[in-house]
Amino acid sequence: MSANTTIQVPLLDLKAQYATIRAEVDDAVRRVMESCHFIGGPEIGGLEEEVARYSQSKFAIACASGTDALLMAMWALDIGPGDEVISPAYSFFATAGTIANNGATPVFVDVDPRTYNLDVHLLEKAITPNTKAVVAVSLFGQCADIPAIRAVCQKHQIYLIEDAAQSIGSEWEGKRSGSMCDFGTFSFFPSKNLGGAGDGGMIVTQDQALADKTRLLCNHGAKPKYYHSLVGTNSRLDALQAAILRVKLRHLDLWSEKRAKNAALYNALFEGSKVGTPLHDARTRHIYNQYVIRSSNRDGLKQHLADRGIGTEVYYPVPLHLQKCFAHLGYKPGDMPHSEAAALETLALPIYPELTEEQIRHVAQSVREFVDA
Ligand SMILES: *Cc1c(COP(=O)(O)O)cnc(C)c1O
Repeated sequence: MSANTTIQVPLLDLKAQYATIRAEVDDAVRRVMESCHFIGGPEIGGLEEEVARYSQSKFAIACASGTDALLMAMWALDIGPGDEVISPAYSFFATAGTIANNGATPVFVDVDPRTYNLDVHLLEKAITPNTKAVVAVSLFGQCADIPAIRAVCQKHQIYLIEDAAQSIGSEWEGKRSGSMCDFGTFSFFPSKNLGGAGDGGMIVTQDQALADKTRLLCNHGAKPKYYHSLVGTNSRLDALQAAILRVKLRHLDLWSEKRAKNAALYNALFEGSKVGTPLHDARTRHIYNQYVIRSSNRDGLKQHLADRGIGTEVYYPVPLHLQKCFAHLGYKPGDMPHSEAAALETLALPIYPELTEEQIRHVAQSVREFVDA
């Protein structure tokens, strides 16, 4: 037995992150507790301004989750029954679930097998007279080719939303993820690069009218209080979450750089290996929310790594078009070959900023033991 068998490498270690920012976070929590300003107020306004600036956007509206951010963006665009909305077939469920929640019909398009983002060459074929919008996802922290997707959307006069839940701070040729569409949506789920101590989300836009409408919808359509011009709902971020997120936002660039450095070390350690390493499109700033490898025996590899104390995850085991809840849409295996292959072969390795070089070497060596044996 090698000494390495005692090294534990969880998929994510939020305790290690908290240890680096404990005093700042504890101060922020105390500040809110002492103010007793729990809903709305200066922490929310402050975070909205800071996220707008960070994501090169004119307007930012805090809401309850990344799922709600998508839901509210589509609601603000009047997406509903009779409308089709295009989504990549390979993403977290919320991308498509929110289309259905708004009463519209999800239409799936396969992804580029190298980046896992929507294949823009397949987009036009999926557009019909009923298509109202496209939800493009910037998966795993790498911005999708939004300018190319937007050009198709503009030609057909349909809306474009970027699901940037995994890609805050990522860029396409210097333009920030979320800033290039009618709406960009972020998630502050704890495992995202900017994660809160619970659920949270943010919607960004460059359009004043859309921003005003979205803000109303997130707050029961009330302005002023008790005067309702629209029927909205309660989708707000808590001030406690906002205060914590403001602390974390100050560290986000350093964390994203560390993730990219960890990815570069993995790439170097996997040189000459049979394992499939993630492609970094040179036009993007990749923030590595996930570092995703591929293996033809993915499940065997996952078990092998678990036996060596290494946490991994499958993002995602079932592509969206084959989910049971979408069976009525009539898709079948073989319709989205790249999404289906990805669901069988991809595996996310630990990539969080606080990883030590020793941990990364242990992971890489354990992967190679299995894949190159
Ligand atoms: C996390 C995530 C969401 C949903 O965000 P929540 O805050 O968990 O509701 C949506 N889309 C993608 C791609 C995600 O990764």
